[in-house]
Amino acid sequence: MKAAVVREFGQPLVIEERPDPEPGPGQVRVRVEACGLCHTDIHAAHGDWPVKPTPPFVPGHEGVGLVEKLGEGVTHLAVGQRVAVPWLGRACGRCEHCLSGWETLCESQINTGYGCDGGYAEKMLAWADFAQAVPEGVSAVDAAPLTCAGVTTYKALKVADVRPAQLVAISGVGGLGHLAVQYAKIAGATVAAIDVTDEKLALARELGADIIIDARTQDVGAELKRHGGAHVALALAVSPAAFEAVNSGLRRGGKLVMVALPAHGTIQLPIFDTVLNGTSVIGSIVGTRQDLAEVFQLHAAGRTKVIQETRPLTAVNESIDEVLRGQVKARIVFDLGTGG
Ligand code: NAD
Ligand code: ZN
Ligand code: ZN
Repeated sequence: MKAAVVREFGQPLVIEERPDPEPGPGQVRVRVEACGLCHTDIHAAHGDWPVKPTPPFVPGHEGVGLVEKLGEGVTHLAVGQRVAVPWLGRACGRCEHCLSGWETLCESQINTGYGCDGGYAEKMLAWADFAQAVPEGVSAVDAAPLTCAGVTTYKALKVADVRPAQLVAISGVGGLGHLAVQYAKIAGATVAAIDVTDEKLALARELGADIIIDARTQDVGAELKRHGGAHVALALAVSPAAFEAVNSGLRRGGKLVMVALPAHGTIQLPIFDTVLNGTSVIGSIVGTRQDLAEVFQLHAAGRTKVIQETRPLTAVNESIDEVLRGQVKARIVFDLGTGG
């Protein structure tokens, strides 16, 4: 089978021929149909974060495909069934986080495409308990971006407890943001979308954003304040300055939800304003299996639109460059040529 491999941080990925992986107990082998290119994969390939993967590794945590082989003890999945393999590859199921509905915080978790090989490959392994069944009628190329970009932003809005009469700012309308705009609308909020390219701002408008803010030419904080200030701001742009800008547009009692993970990311948080305005800063990491099930359910019901453009896996390096240059409409999905 073919896989795109990070051999060295910051170097182009290498397409390699590898033997098909054998599922161990509790695992399945998936014939990958599609895998989205999340910006996290670029951080992984660049070794951007304090906790780094160990090369050689195969990135990709938006892998969707058909179960091909069951490991020992797997009874709830069937060969031929379409599943998604998210970032949360497995969690322990026993710690306080797992037991309290916060499996995403499990300290023993293994992350797909980071702590084990991911979906930039024709075949991959998944822990059966964490492989998410994809509902009938949801294509692999649509399911892929939902598997990280979808569940992450859906969860970020949940942790912020968004209510219908609120103003929600979405900073960065990329892979994550284009879905965030839609979930915020579904939650009933008024949505202000912020980005730095004409195409992304036009897309945000098409997807239902009510207020459009161009961070190249407008003062993000002042614009949000002109509309009363944001109750909730999702920081999805890979830029610490964008975090600071959107934070300055919160109304009193507002919440900044940090989601993007820029390399060496730190922000200046004004203590006086944070205290006097009673604002909060919340970190939000992907979502649980239940969150992903809800994301798929919404899509199967026709309530969300995934904006994806496909590429062959052999175009992996060019595709990464496209994302970094801001040229992608929303999400690139590698089409592994086995369906869709
Ligand atoms: P992306 O590259 O598709 O989107 C980023 C968007 O931000 C682009 O549309 C870009 O034009 C826009 N942008 C750039 N500078 C901006 C600025 N100054 N102001 C406003 N917008 C600006 O990336 P993505 O795949 O959506 O991922 C975004 C980030 O989220 C990455 O850092 C990724 O690692 C992280 N992420 C976090 C989680 C989590 O669970 N916390 C999950 C997935 C991804
Ligand atoms: Zn991701
Ligand atoms: Zn746990």
